[in-house]
Amino acid sequence: MTSRITYVNGRYVPSREAVVSVEDRGNQFADAVYEACQIKDGAIIDLRRHLDRLDRSLAELRIAAPMSRAAMTHVLREVARRNRVENGYVYWQISRGAAPRDHAFPTGVRPTFTATAKSLDVAAAALRYEKGVPVITLPDNRWERVDIKTVGLLPNALAKQAAREAGAFEAVFVDAEGFVTEGSSANVWLVDGEGRLVTRPADRGILRGITRSVLLEVAETEGVAVVERRFTVAEMKTAREVFLTSAGATLCPVVSVDGETVANGAPGSVAARLRRRFHDLAERTPI
Ligand code: PMP
Repeated sequence: MTSRITYVNGRYVPSREAVVSVEDRGNQFADAVYEACQIKDGAIIDLRRHLDRLDRSLAELRIAAPMSRAAMTHVLREVARRNRVENGYVYWQISRGAAPRDHAFPTGVRPTFTATAKSLDVAAAALRYEKGVPVITLPDNRWERVDIKTVGLLPNALAKQAAREAGAFEAVFVDAEGFVTEGSSANVWLVDGEGRLVTRPADRGILRGITRSVLLEVAETEGVAVVERRFTVAEMKTAREVFLTSAGATLCPVVSVDGETVANGAPGSVAARLRRRFHDLAERTPI
């Protein structure tokens, strides 16, 4: 589904009229960062945490914030409202700005700030949750700063396409030592033989997912033990449960890895329990 209204540098315009320069550095160098928040039942989910992560991404790249957090919050709510999104997501992106092409930073440019909001197919998401999804694994060929949420997502896009062509829903990256890093657009978790949740530490090999952070809190309140450690593809295949987390999907069970069935091939009970409780701990910013 498309966003009808787009915010671009201070204006809300019909999306087909929304333009940025060909020489925008987001366009030419992927010199831009972004965030995406779930919108659920008319509220933006965990906005404060996403804004915190955005501040970090901007600081890592030395891009100036285009406006205050209060002003940005206002814009994001407005974009969601103008697109009448009840359930979906709001996406926003900040590039270093537009300047004559030169790899080094330009001086005196203003960041480019765009935002869109879209409704999601709630029924399709519910079906994925009910049935679980297949994933494939691929070597992680991304740069080492994937902890910064940049729009440099070509390896992720190629991996997702490979998954689609293999009839899978997500591609899971594996590092040079054989340990799982994360999905092309989600963090990865398993439930081990003792019922403990296992997920990779949020070091530089992965993006520190906001859903991941909230789920760690949910696990604690639910009394589910968590071990933050690296795990292999073989461990995934023999786990009791495997699932993905992302702002778009919250939690999505995985039922096969590279064509091998996980457990009994159905979503597991730990995933169901954590998902049920997730929105009790997530923060809501009403549109
Ligand atoms: N890893 C990658 C590579 C992602 O693109 C995403 C989705 N933004 C995530 C993890 C999950 O992060 P979050 O829970 O903040 O959406």
